[in-house]
Amino acid sequence: MTATSTPAVFYLGTHHPHWLADERFRDVPLFVSSRRLRNRKTLPHAVGRWALDSGGFTEIKMYGQWTITPAEYAELVCWYARDIGMPDFIAPMDWMCEPAIIYGQNQHLKPTDPRYFHGTRAARGIPPDGPDEPLDDAVHKHQMWTVTNYLQLRKLLPPYLRERLIAVAQGERLRHYLAILDMFADAGVDLRTLPLVGLGSVCRRQHTREIAEIVGALAARGLRNMHGFGVKADGLDLYGADLSSADSQAWSDGERHRGYPRFPECVGVHKNCANCPKAALRWRTKVVDRLARARRRPYQLGLFDQAA
Ligand SMILES: [Zn+2]
Repeated sequence: MTATSTPAVFYLGTHHPHWLADERFRDVPLFVSSRRLRNRKTLPHAVGRWALDSGGFTEIKMYGQWTITPAEYAELVCWYARDIGMPDFIAPMDWMCEPAIIYGQNQHLKPTDPRYFHGTRAARGIPPDGPDEPLDDAVHKHQMWTVTNYLQLRKLLPPYLRERLIAVAQGERLRHYLAILDMFADAGVDLRTLPLVGLGSVCRRQHTREIAEIVGALAARGLRNMHGFGVKADGLDLYGADLSSADSQAWSDGERHRGYPRFPECVGVHKNCANCPKAALRWRTKVVDRLARARRRPYQLGLFDQAA
């Protein structure tokens, strides 16, 4: 375990890009998906810090592949940086490796259903009928594409954005996460030397010992600055010491499941607080406070926070 026990930055995930321009979020780093930005005519100008999610989980979950090319994504990233402001980091076009993403799940449902997973059989060149390939082979393909997309994006982005593009360690079991370190190394990229490396395929099992072990093993292999995608309080309790940042949008689902407004003043305004800035801010404060209590020390702003 490393000495710091609180992630330096916790990014509040939001599906409302206009919050970037909202003064209430000036001191709250936001995490916004390209999928929420790319079809807009104009972009909000950020008053605070933000980081760009590529929306890869949703893309591959819904379509079984990326629906945009690296060239298109690079062009979008340039537009976002110019009009919104410079993101802290840029998520790449990685390929998640959870079995549900690979093999699909609930394919009888609509692609917009949260339980629907398209599966990547077609992208992997497996005929529609007949057996699918073993997990290790499928994961290896997703990892190869994760590496090649990263290399391509690095070439396509101008230098001032290239340095903010992060590489993501994707895998399913620990052996996969270790293998992708070597795959990046073979491609000339030493993940230990990068300012930030993303930890992929953890959001749906972020509170498990298995992820804690994976994070610990990667830290032991020299990855010191990791971003945990979709890691919230219970995951941070387990292995927050080894992450330097994390993001989560779990507040919104929580409010949706609650089914009625959290605040008296929201009654009659919206049917629940799944889109409510107040609810998002309250949740974020609770996550940060809980971390502080867990670590028995006040929450300290990270290096990047002080610059903001
Ligand atoms: Zn509300």
